[in-house]
Amino acid sequence: MATSVASSPRKSLAEKVFKRVGRGGYSYYLGGRSGSGGGRSSGQSKRRCGNERDLDLDYDEDDGTTMELAQIGAERTKNVLILMSDTGGGHRASAEAIRDAFRMEFGDEYRIFVKDVWKEYTGWPLNDMERSYKFMVKHVQLWKVAFHSTSPRWIHSCYLAAIAAYYAKEVEAGLMEYKPDIIISVHPLMQHIPLWVLKWQGLQKKVIFVTVITDLNSCHPTWFHPGVNRCYCPSQEVAKRALLDGLDESQIRVFGLPIRPSFARAVISKDQLREELEMDPDLPAVLLMGGGEGMGPVKKTAKALGESLFEKERGKPIGQLIIICGRNKTLASTLESEEWKIPVKIRGFENQMEKWMGACDCIITKAGPGTIAEALIRGLPIILNDYIPGQEKGNVPYVVDNGAGVFTRSPKETARLVAEWFSTKTDELKRMSGNALKLAQPEAVFDIVRDIHELAEQRGPLANIPYMLTSSFTSLI
Ligand code: UDP
Repeated sequence: MATSVASSPRKSLAEKVFKRVGRGGYSYYLGGRSGSGGGRSSGQSKRRCGNERDLDLDYDEDDGTTMELAQIGAERTKNVLILMSDTGGGHRASAEAIRDAFRMEFGDEYRIFVKDVWKEYTGWPLNDMERSYKFMVKHVQLWKVAFHSTSPRWIHSCYLAAIAAYYAKEVEAGLMEYKPDIIISVHPLMQHIPLWVLKWQGLQKKVIFVTVITDLNSCHPTWFHPGVNRCYCPSQEVAKRALLDGLDESQIRVFGLPIRPSFARAVISKDQLREELEMDPDLPAVLLMGGGEGMGPVKKTAKALGESLFEKERGKPIGQLIIICGRNKTLASTLESEEWKIPVKIRGFENQMEKWMGACDCIITKAGPGTIAEALIRGLPIILNDYIPGQEKGNVPYVVDNGAGVFTRSPKETARLVAEWFSTKTDELKRMSGNALKLAQPEAVFDIVRDIHELAEQRGPLANIPYMLTSSFTSLI
């Protein structure tokens, strides 16, 4: 509910700041929000820095600035900025999971922005992370060297401090565009720089900053920053690393990897899903994929499965194959030009992964944490056929040692295993499915957003002062 600022004890502070920022803004505020009064579109307001922002009260039509001012002393809608990058598919999936869980749990108490601020506001190398990552993971030795050589703290801290200093104004503009009350980083390179900028702006007491780690086991040390309010670790192994890297126990919570609520709250049966997805209703189904980028030995494995799932003696298939190529368009078109003896569906980037997983009986994938955690929720036995060195290596023992799957790089061995699971070894498939379900943590994302909500509730009065007043106030001190 909006309350009148005129009767608020904070009026004198508001007036002081309005006088400082200019009369145009003051009269706009007193006149109330007109809805059209000369506001800029959010597109136009992008890429503006520092002082320019302070001088504009009608800065962004759509960003709630005036609403924020009108809500002084009242329960404001809080802004949550989720920092992510499309390096792989997992960071976006986790960001969207958190966004959806916030909406389900708290309705419009929070306004959520999922953004790659680096890409939108900064320059090289920050704005080029997707391309560089894709290139490096294709040349794994290069990635291995980059991952391990940047692991010592003094190396990555110096590097990130230099970038933070160079792009301070751009990052500040990017963050302030969304006036976040809470910043959630779901990316290993999005702790140091925003935390420095918040420190330089004196906004650490106002803005809650949390990290949600999206690697299940072996993760890069840039995930861990002692300046965060919370660090959500998906497993005890990651929590141990966080402690060793200097975080305090009170900062760490272990709930699991955040997975889109559509996985946790799926209600449609396998039969219905198969009908909806136009799959064969009776044949067991294997899902083959390679993360968001369609990586790993997908093509060779698909061909081997095309042979092993076809029973030559009876001239009949014993299974069906779903291949999700993600953003790898070349892979999809190559596979489409193949002739298949078994039912095969080839798909590009899918937005309803929960449906495809729900309609299948097992999965073959590289050891991506997002795909693994989703498959566990759906109770799918997993064949891991590859991993990205560094952050994904530890996911292999996590799956194999817990009896939820196997690891083999050989497409032929993979195809043989699936054929056995679908014919003579159905018991093994069932047992692994049970083990997968035991590891699943479908509620993790809800536990994370509830904990963040509690943090927000505990914040002192500074958190409730509108953003513009706080930052202007800070620069007055
Ligand atoms: N994904 C998706 N659609 C696709 C392919 C992948 O939504 O067509 C999602 C997948 O469900 C998972 C994420 O992308 O949530 C992949 O994350 P993972 O950690 O497994 O691997 P990454 O792509 O990050 O290397």
